[in-house]
Amino acid sequence: MQIPISQRNSNNHTAIVIGSSMAGLLSARVLADYFTQVIVVDRDTLPEQPQTRMGVPQANHAHVMLAQGYRILEELFPGIDAELSKAGAPRVDWAKEYTLFGFWGFHPHIASDLITHTCSRAFLEWLVHRRLLGFENIKFRQKTQVHGLLTNNQNSQVRGVKLYNSDENKQEELIADLVVDASGRNSQVPNWLKSMGYPAPEQTVINSFLGYSTRWYELPQDLQLDWKALAVLYKPPHNKHGGVLLPVEGNRWAVTLAGIAKDYPPTDNDGFLECARNLRNSAIYDAIKDAKPISKVYSYRRTENCWHHYEKLKRLPSGLVIIGDAVCAFNPVYGQGMTSAALSALTLQKCLLIQLNSSADTITKWNQNFQKQLAKVLKNPWLMATSDDFRWETTEGGKPDKVTRFMHKYMDEVILLSVHQPQVYKVFSEVIHMVKPPTALFAPGIIFGVLKQMIDPKINHNSQEVLDNSIKVVS
Ligand SMILES: Cc1cc2nc3c(=O)[nH]c(=O)nc-3n(C[C@H](O)[C@H](O)[C@H](O)COP(=O)(O)OP(=O)(O)OC[C@H]3O[C@@H](n4cnc5c(N)ncnc54)[C@H](O)[C@@H]3O)c2cc1C
Repeated sequence: MQIPISQRNSNNHTAIVIGSSMAGLLSARVLADYFTQVIVVDRDTLPEQPQTRMGVPQANHAHVMLAQGYRILEELFPGIDAELSKAGAPRVDWAKEYTLFGFWGFHPHIASDLITHTCSRAFLEWLVHRRLLGFENIKFRQKTQVHGLLTNNQNSQVRGVKLYNSDENKQEELIADLVVDASGRNSQVPNWLKSMGYPAPEQTVINSFLGYSTRWYELPQDLQLDWKALAVLYKPPHNKHGGVLLPVEGNRWAVTLAGIAKDYPPTDNDGFLECARNLRNSAIYDAIKDAKPISKVYSYRRTENCWHHYEKLKRLPSGLVIIGDAVCAFNPVYGQGMTSAALSALTLQKCLLIQLNSSADTITKWNQNFQKQLAKVLKNPWLMATSDDFRWETTEGGKPDKVTRFMHKYMDEVILLSVHQPQVYKVFSEVIHMVKPPTALFAPGIIFGVLKQMIDPKINHNSQEVLDNSIKVVS
């Protein structure tokens, strides 16, 4: 929904966004409807062609934009789906064309509307950046680091940012009505708040010590496959390695191996292949063993779940909001970061709309309200990521409570059920893609199926064995 400039709140002149990665770019898109000008500041040079840059090193690794995030992307940038398709990003139906070897073996294939075009992270960011260049009221400041906030005399209001431009070796101050921090896991806002006399937000950190190793491959010619994307999961408590193969633009595969509980995947070429061979199923190894590698093996280990609880702060200076990984970063294995950033941008949009129609009194606290609304959005992905991490005894940051232990047992049964019942797998996939809430897995039909399965004497629920090794295809 684009609001004509004439109808924008006359108090809203300039918004500054710190960080031009996914959370910053999506926020800028939303802000452009409400502010006369939006300035996105990043310390990096923003590439003219899709490529990984220093500020977003995770772009070397497979990134899935979940179906929910993908739909929001199309809503914010109409036609982006067609653009991705035109650029050669493969179309994947995530319940039909993605083969998942889960806790109990292969899941069935069933047609769904969980459809996205898969691409590299660098390409997606570049595409969104390019779209934003077309907005007359959005400007980018590259090679420019934000190193502090400008405030009024009482420190009750943020009035802009302090900048350092590395190209020109120049300090600068930029005045704004709103500063949006989207600077990721290393956000300095907690320190800046402290220096202004505010408490820093509480932090919850849950670390399962997961590491990624990724190598890129040329898509082999003339390959007859019954899948487009592939994943083999690790299985607690003993099997600590898993992997994913993602088809992306340019006829390439991004192959990421993950190791949890400090059992990090190898970072050398031979070790990478050997690790793929030793996964619980050889499907990824079989696909890549004769494929041509086109990159080195990239490694990444900063993957802890980390939530800065801005929503709990009793005081926050007006004119400041915090979004994206700067608020809440997830263990990336569930692929929730970019979709959460997209949902957060929509939350910002809603709160800005309310602010637009509010009296001056309520305006001062709208940013605190935004942080509270954001926390509601983050709750489900946080629960999904951290609850699964608590399956590992070595996870630091807490212990599973009774509810979490019950959830582990219940989810094991649902996953098992979804191996046999394609309709259940479809709902499971919809929850994973954040299209449905986790409560969808407690629908009466699924609970009934779980209970029936639990008393089935033919099923050994403690078995580490795979129950069904073939994929059923349901159209
Ligand atoms: C290995 C890995 C794999 C992942 N896989 C997935 C996936 O499959 N699906 C998914 O949805 N998500 C995934 N994620 C998460 C996803 O990458 C992030 O959630 C997403 O990028 C949103 O992050 P962000 O924009 O908040 O911050 P970031 O991506 O960290 O970007 C921060 C930006 O701020 C800039 N910056 C920082 N400080 C300053 C400063 N002081 N001044 C100016 N600029 C500054 C940086 O240069 C950078 O551009 C993965 C993450 C990792 C680590």
